[in-house]
Amino acid sequence: MTTDESRESVGDATRLAHLGRNSEQQQGLVNTPVTRASTILFPDLKTLRAGAQEYTYGRHATPTTKALQDALAQLEGAHAAFLTSSGLAAVTTSILSVTKAGDHILVADCVYEPTRKFCTEALSAMGVSVSFFDPLVGADIAKLVTPKTKAVFLESPGSLTFEVSDVAAIADAAHQAGAKVLLDNSWATPLFFKSFRNGVDISIHSVTKYISGHADGMCGAILTNEHAVDDVERMRRLLGQSNGADEAYLALRGLRSLEARLARQTASALEIARWLETRPEVARVLYPALENDPGYRLWQRDFSGAASLFSIVLHPCSNDALARMVDGMSLFSMGYSWGAFESLILPSVPNRSVTEWSEAGTLLRLYIGLEDPNDLKQDLEAALERLE
Ligand SMILES: *Cc1c(COP(=O)(O)O)cnc(C)c1O
Repeated sequence: MTTDESRESVGDATRLAHLGRNSEQQQGLVNTPVTRASTILFPDLKTLRAGAQEYTYGRHATPTTKALQDALAQLEGAHAAFLTSSGLAAVTTSILSVTKAGDHILVADCVYEPTRKFCTEALSAMGVSVSFFDPLVGADIAKLVTPKTKAVFLESPGSLTFEVSDVAAIADAAHQAGAKVLLDNSWATPLFFKSFRNGVDISIHSVTKYISGHADGMCGAILTNEHAVDDVERMRRLLGQSNGADEAYLALRGLRSLEARLARQTASALEIARWLETRPEVARVLYPALENDPGYRLWQRDFSGAASLFSIVLHPCSNDALARMVDGMSLFSMGYSWGAFESLILPSVPNRSVTEWSEAGTLLRLYIGLEDPNDLKQDLEAALERLE
């Protein structure tokens, strides 16, 4: 058995089978076991006072949560990783770790709605000023940075609308102004976008989504470089952010098949998205992996793959017609979240501050799961025909 470090020369699919486990240290068991813990005992006063043992309290880490943290950090090339109770908690903890009263944060206008709400409702009330910016701003972010700007928060591709940002150009300008760069990387997973090679200081994941991958666990992860690690670790401890061994085990179990699931789902998503482009009921398909998407060039430059989550915009229709369409589906279901094995459809309205969402028709976010793509197409075809 080789160490995790020596595996850096092998492909990600290979690393997924081996990261975060060490059979020799666990009686030959393939998987890192679930080690539930709150209290962890110290052998003597000296060790207690110095905190001089690897595990000190369940909230800080257990062997199972540490295994997941190590696997995620190594996969994306982070200095360290920390687990949180949810993806949203990873977002909020990250932002609080780099801002305080009197500071300013720049937030991409396409962020996940709860991230926007945290910034406008909680962060503002704490005395941090928030401005939103066009995710397509690129190096011109330099014009928006003030001496008080401590952080730039990105999500690329954006939630619901899937704009792709020039992360490296934005990071460069932000760093010149002394601001940290945070990226919600949930869509790409640690496989398809390597944040730290693109200038990101803090990469955030909703582990709940593709990594856990089976619609049964809530978990977030904050991955950091060496410049942000102390601030993130401090704030995570202050806020009491952590997760349990059961959730970490589910995420580790999901992680093993991440590459295989994504390969299958991306192929299905591309096939379905291309077919949707030809449908008369569909005004637009928003998916940067499609050649005629405005984000295609940057997606191709920066990403090594695409998630199976994208949106379509319908031509304007009545609410009754929309209800006929979505209520009668047999394979696509309506529900929040995405990233598991089953396909989902979600009518949504993008919320904007400085850019405009001017489409008249309904936006539907589609999540393509592991089902046979021909069956999914049939379900969608019948649904679109119910719009008439
Ligand atoms: C779902 C989601 C989150 C929040 O994750 P939870 O684990 O549900 O809290 C954050 N960012 C993005 C982009 C998401 O899609």
